[in-house]
Order: sequence, then structure tokens, then C-alpha cells
Amino acid sequence: MSKKPSIDIEQEDQPQPNNFLWNIIRYVIVVILLVVGIWSYLSQKPHFFTTQETRGMTMGTDYSVKVTDFVKGTEPDVWKNIKTQIHQRLDEIDRAMSTYRTNSEVSRFNNSVSTNWFEVSKDTADVVNTALEIATLTEGAFDITVAPLVDLWGFGANQHPNFTIKDVEEKTNQIKSKIGYDKLEVRLQPPALKKSIPELCIDLSAIAKGYAVDCVAKLLEENGFANFIVEVGGEVCCRGYKDISSTYKATSHDWIIGIEKPFIVSSDGFSGLQRKLPMKDRALATSGDYQNYREIDGVRYSHFIDPRTGFPTEYFTADEPKPVEQLGSVSVLAELCVRADAWATALFVLGEHKGLELAEKHGIAVLFLFRTEQKDHPIREAASTTFPK
Ligand code: FAD
Repeated sequence: MSKKPSIDIEQEDQPQPNNFLWNIIRYVIVVILLVVGIWSYLSQKPHFFTTQETRGMTMGTDYSVKVTDFVKGTEPDVWKNIKTQIHQRLDEIDRAMSTYRTNSEVSRFNNSVSTNWFEVSKDTADVVNTALEIATLTEGAFDITVAPLVDLWGFGANQHPNFTIKDVEEKTNQIKSKIGYDKLEVRLQPPALKKSIPELCIDLSAIAKGYAVDCVAKLLEENGFANFIVEVGGEVCCRGYKDISSTYKATSHDWIIGIEKPFIVSSDGFSGLQRKLPMKDRALATSGDYQNYREIDGVRYSHFIDPRTGFPTEYFTADEPKPVEQLGSVSVLAELCVRADAWATALFVLGEHKGLELAEKHGIAVLFLFRTEQKDHPIREAASTTFPK
């Protein structure tokens, strides 16, 4: 019997360690060491990420953006280029949807008396499509065709000079027949709007800022960021974490957004925070009566028009009892800021009872804040079950 190549007889008798298994074990050990090494490097992130910010003006209000996962050592031009993209995107939305710009497509649509399809940008068609969807869900409480009433009561771009309540009451009843979201159609492909009466006009102030927030968030995600906050005129969305330096998934570094107490203060005044909300991967919009209102004959009217009456929500005829407490603000949490923005206005118009009923029906997370005029309990909260306690 020919001898086998000279291997250690001892070895030959012994069961050979299964090389395959041993290789697997070695491979697993190497992978574990690699993962631990990368993890410990990544978890000591102070030296890895830095925060970048930008702010500016758009749509007659201010905006701010803060990114916390900007890789350190990236060329400064990268952030400069992203800032330019952000401002251009906001400017594009402003130029399309502003009723303060006579040459915007919304102003041109409003001035057109044609009842044929009027071509618009995809942005405007998408916003009007969402507006009409939420108008239907809120049984007409949200209605972008209230534009002429917004102007009449002195809140829009085409404000009327000072007037008495008598003037406005008469004109409101005349204009009411010229509004109604059922007189407006949208076509997404190719994008276009159509009015069924020549006088129909739209006002996107209650929804376009929320849309702008979502567009900037999308732009940042397309540039590879996952941890940032975007705010336009008080509408805000947060993604990821405010601070990812210590440990990558630290939840203690959530973004915290404050909801202001809705007291009437001077335009640049601040009345303190009613709530502080940890925010991750969602949007918050607040509609309030305490910054945008007019006094007429000693009565204060906010800029929320009830399309069903044609009057501001605080309007009470002489024989109607004035409520003891006043709705000051409505805050809505949602995945998309465009929806939070529109729902906040709609629920302000609907008020607590009808508003909470619809919010529960559609799973909307909403917080109503009322001014009670009671010294020891100046603010009363009413929230839907899905709003954080
Ligand atoms: P929200 O509380 O979100 O909504 C209230 C607004 O919605 C009201 O002001 C009214 O316009 C409208 N509204 C009222 N009732 C209803 C209802 N039932 N359904 C639907 N909508 C309703 N302002 C300037 O001063 N200068 C500018 O150059 C300027 N440019 C703008 C450009 C764009 C594209 C937009 C969208 C707005 C612009 N604005 C401008 C207005 C300003 O940015 C705010 O939109 C406005 O002050 C209301 O902001 P808000 O968050 O308080 O409104």
C-alpha cells in the first residue's frame, strides 16, 4: 500500500479540524472586529459632522434651515451651492403662487375671466389639488377661493382702505356667491386650473408655505441629508436629530419645537411657550389669531374667513352671545407640512367641537389653545387623541 504523502501519522489518525468551519469562525471574527471598529469611530462623531444653517426672506415672511449632518471637511462651496438651491426653490414657489406679485401665475389666473383650462406649473397644480382634497374633507371650512373676502376684510394683497363694519357686511353678502371650491377644478397632467365663474379667485396663503417647507426638505434629502429642520413663516418640519455628534441614534437629541401661548402681543412680542414638542420626521403648522388681525369699530377680527358665512370666524352679529373664551391658535402635526398647514386653518375655522370631530374621523393630530380670561387658568387646551399629551 503506497504510503500517503508524508503527513504526521499522528495527524492522520486524528480527526482533521474542519478547515471550512475554522475559516468561517475566522471570517466572522474579522467582520465583528471591523463592525466594532467602524461603530466606535462613527459613534465618536464630534469630529465627523458639523452643523450648517441658512436663513432669508420669502413669501413676505422669513425662513430658516439647519442641517446637523454636514460632513466635516466638505468643500464650503457644497453648502453654498445648496443654500442657492434652497433660495431658488423658495423663490420659484413665491413667483408662482404669490397674490402679492401681479405677474405670478396665481395672480394671472385670478385676473383671467376665462372659464377654459388655464395652464400653471406642476407646483401650483399640486398645491391646488391638495387644497381641494382638504376642502372636501373639511366640508368647505378650508376654501382657497375665499380670496376676495380675505381682501375685503383687509388681510390679503389687495387690501381695501379703512372701512366701517356696515360697508363690509353689505359687500360680504354680495361676494359670498362668487366663492366656493366647487367652482374650481385642477388638472395634474398637463397641469392647469379651471374656474366655472369668471370672477373666481384663489389665495394660497394657508397652504403654500407648508408646501414650500416640504419642497426644501425634499431638496435636502436629495442632497443626502437626513438630520435637519426647515421653517417657513412658522410652519416647520424636522428630520432625524438635532444633535448626532455623541451617539448616532441618541434620542435625547430630538428637535424640540415650541408652541407659543396665543396671547395678543405686539407683532414682535413673545408670550411664552404653552408646549415643547420633541419632533422627529414630522411637520407642525400653527394657525393663530394673535398676530394677523384687524380692529374694526373696536372689535378684533382675525384673518380666518368662514366660507360658510363669508365672515371672519370671530364675527358675531349683535344679537349673538359673545363666547367667554376665544380660540387663539390651532396646531397640527402631520407627515407633510402642506397638509398640516391647510388642516390648521380649516380646524381654526371649524372650532373645537366640529374640528375635533373631523380630526378624530380623519386621524388628524391637533391641539386647540383657548384664551379663557381666567387669571389662574389663562389658557385651555383641547386636543385630538393622536396629539402628544
Ligand atoms: P395661515 O394661518 O396659515 O392661514 C391664514 C391665511 O389663509 C389668511 O391670511 C388668508 O389669506 C387665508 N385664509 C383665510 N381663511 C381661509 C379659509 N377658510 N380657507 C383657506 N384659506 C383661508 N405677505 C406679505 O405681506 N408680502 C408678500 O410679499 C407675501 N408674499 C406671499 C407669497 C406667497 C406665495 C404666499 C403663499 C403668501 C405671501 N404672503 C405675503 C402672505 C404671508 O406669507 C402669509 O401667508 C400670511 O400672512 C398668512 O400667514 P399665516 O401663516 O398667518 O396664515
